Amino acid sequence: MSEEKKKHEKQVPNNVVPLGPTKCCGEGCNKKPEKAGFCAEHFEWFKAGLLTKEGMKAADFEKKHYHFMRAKKSA
Ligand SMILES: [Zn+2]
Repeated sequence: MSEEKKKHEKQVPNNVVPLGPTKCCGEGCNKKPEKAGFCAEHFEWFKAGLLTKEGMKAADFEKKHYHFMRAKKSA
């Protein structure tokens, strides 16, 4: 007799906000975080969709970065 277990693994959303990150979430960045866990520069990246909120590079990071830098230059 086989027992069928239906597992409903509820993913509890992690709403716990850490008290104060001491470092920017950006890869290899040691600057002090200013907004949403990023330093000013990486927050810009995050806003532009270059980084996820975890500080990971977006899937099409290179393309986005290219356009981001171009947009910055002409601004
Ligand atoms: Zn940074």
